[in-house]
Amino acid sequence: MYADVSFPISSYQTFTYEIPDPLLKKVSVGMRVNAAFGPRKIQGIVVDIKTKPGFAGRIKPIDSLVDDQPVLDTHLWKLINWLSDYYCIPLGVAARVALPANLSTRYKPQKRTMVKAIGSISELLARAKAQVSVLEYLISEKDFVSTRALSDLASNPLDVCRKLAEKGLVEIKEEDILPDLSGFAFKPIHKKIRFSNDQNKAVGEIYSSLDKNEFTPFLLHGVTGSGKTEIYIEAARHALSQDKTVIMLLPEISLTPQIAGRFCAAFGDAVALWHSKLSQTARAWTWKKICAGDYKVVVGARSAVFAPLKNLGLIVVDEEQESSYKQESPDPRYHARDVSLVRGKIHNAAIVLASATPSLESYYNHIYGKFEYIHLPERFGGAKYPHVHVVNMIKESEETEIYGGVFSRILLEKIADRLGKKEQVIILHNRRGFAPVLRCDDCGEVIMCPHCQVALTYHRTGKFLQCHFCDHLERSLPSTCQECQSFNLQLAGTGTQKVEDKLIEKFPEAKIERLDVDTARSGINITDVLQNFSNGKIDILLGTQMIAKGLDFANATLVGIVNGDTGLYLPDFRAGERVFQLIYQAAGRSGRGRIPGEVVVQTYNPENPVIKCATQLDLKKYYNICLDERQALDYPPFSWMVRLEVSGENKSAVEKTSMVLGSKLKRTAKGITLLGPAFCYRERLRNQYRMQAVLKSRKETDPNGTKLHRFFKSTIQDEKSFKLPGNVRLIIDVNPVSLL
Ligand SMILES: [Zn+2]
Ligand SMILES: [Zn+2]
Repeated sequence: MYADVSFPISSYQTFTYEIPDPLLKKVSVGMRVNAAFGPRKIQGIVVDIKTKPGFAGRIKPIDSLVDDQPVLDTHLWKLINWLSDYYCIPLGVAARVALPANLSTRYKPQKRTMVKAIGSISELLARAKAQVSVLEYLISEKDFVSTRALSDLASNPLDVCRKLAEKGLVEIKEEDILPDLSGFAFKPIHKKIRFSNDQNKAVGEIYSSLDKNEFTPFLLHGVTGSGKTEIYIEAARHALSQDKTVIMLLPEISLTPQIAGRFCAAFGDAVALWHSKLSQTARAWTWKKICAGDYKVVVGARSAVFAPLKNLGLIVVDEEQESSYKQESPDPRYHARDVSLVRGKIHNAAIVLASATPSLESYYNHIYGKFEYIHLPERFGGAKYPHVHVVNMIKESEETEIYGGVFSRILLEKIADRLGKKEQVIILHNRRGFAPVLRCDDCGEVIMCPHCQVALTYHRTGKFLQCHFCDHLERSLPSTCQECQSFNLQLAGTGTQKVEDKLIEKFPEAKIERLDVDTARSGINITDVLQNFSNGKIDILLGTQMIAKGLDFANATLVGIVNGDTGLYLPDFRAGERVFQLIYQAAGRSGRGRIPGEVVVQTYNPENPVIKCATQLDLKKYYNICLDERQALDYPPFSWMVRLEVSGENKSAVEKTSMVLGSKLKRTAKGITLLGPAFCYRERLRNQYRMQAVLKSRKETDPNGTKLHRFFKSTIQDEKSFKLPGNVRLIIDVNPVSLL
């Protein structure tokens, strides 16, 4: 017998191996095997089994199996096949997401030897000093103790314990060293609640879909504070009662510890947490137990959508509009929301996509009747919507004659007011660092990253310039402009560190904490900070978008948005949608308890429709404007889109390849529009020049996207017609979330 094996390499080719006799009964399609590939031995996945080899050359045998039993059942194997086809990647690469190379069902935790006294000192006839002191210690400890803890009592404690055991004075046992699986400081959160009518109705609809065992996609559109988490839990409870399993996806688990905490409280040991903070051993152990069917619920970020659960009944995607559900690198560049829909179809499961600000895609699917729509228009427990103040910062500057100030008068007044009342404040500013730009005041030259077309950001803590793309650091600031030698270099713009300085200056008594990528990297435990804010130990929580979503603080009654315009003018078709969602969601953090909340949004563009609709909390109006725009321009969700990026260190090679690619795409396109090829907005990142071509195909004429799919696949995958030179790389990004 022979097996065709696909490896996680960029080639679509599969390779034939002989199945040696001892493995004959064990090898099946979808299993991981180790096999010689060139000079190395690497992991591949069996994609086909045949009685005759496909070619006549010398055929090597499979070396060994990676797992004891197949991990991929037919459902998951179907999903991997879809992933490979849809995202245009070799099966071996697609399989890697569900079967990470460093995980195996053969993982065994380390053991340790435990010992406990069962006899008394008087029974110890031989008076060897080590035996006496060990036994005395064990008697005083009463319970089992690790033999390692005895090392100061005896040079070889294990030997001593064995001698004592022979005399029947101690009991020895082996125990698995189980890794710490929590990784978080939060405790299970118990909360007793009574459902509103809306919540009851929502839960009822999900129940009935689960009862019918039918694939049903739901859009759960619940305003912030409407009690979505309770619905997730009840839906999960129902699925478990039918002996089904559940995946709960969160954009980033450490930022939403409350939801994970609620799940742990509700389902205890049935819950596995799957996230990037798990240690390697904890990951291996958790994964093995998921494979063995020991967990019924997996709570995790993006990659948890591939958790090898059997009999899957429900997937919940919280904050489904979040771009972190899209994997940008490495391949496969999948979107966990789309994957969950496909997985739901394969398993006949219910899929709940939930948000206060749905993605335009999901909103569109609801409008066009593809999703069941569940609306929770009321805040839970009758909490009122916050009152939003819009501050025109141009006017503010004119009136105060302070230009480029961080805080308006009204925001300062309101912060002072809340501090006086012992209420809490959240300040959002979506730019980290101290000053985003170091600029020459004479010639206007901006200090750029040497590897990227991106300005370096000044960080006051540590006093360095940093590139936020490649992390390039410049420890000393240039004293003169490289262009004109002027000494007049000025820091421009405002980052979170500057906002923090201003807050400390204005409110020296207040306890202020900042949360952004930098504080997270510096080792501050995000969950601790959130917990402290929740317990009232912090007065003002300042942060980037990290703090804008999913958090539930009853005593936070004021949200200030320092610059509502951040990101508004990025040349990306989703820029407006993102800004809207951020402001709308951040506003939702305010006043979730009994006290009504207030929001202050500072803007230089108060008349901009995005800012206007967001500050009026008018989601429907903005989404309709946005849908009209997208339709007029044939952008998603009205079209299918594929982004082809050519990158490399050699600029002219990148240009040349892009032109060849472009002309190929142009020649054959029928009903498909081509944008570019052109240099990306960020022309150079990490020393790589980048050009992109974007293909669009209207859903009206290509309802399932198959036309576009066939077209670009035939162009790219046909190696005879399109050969990539060695010094450039081609990235295929199906349904990109960003065109920057
Ligand atoms: Zn200059
Ligand atoms: Zn850089």
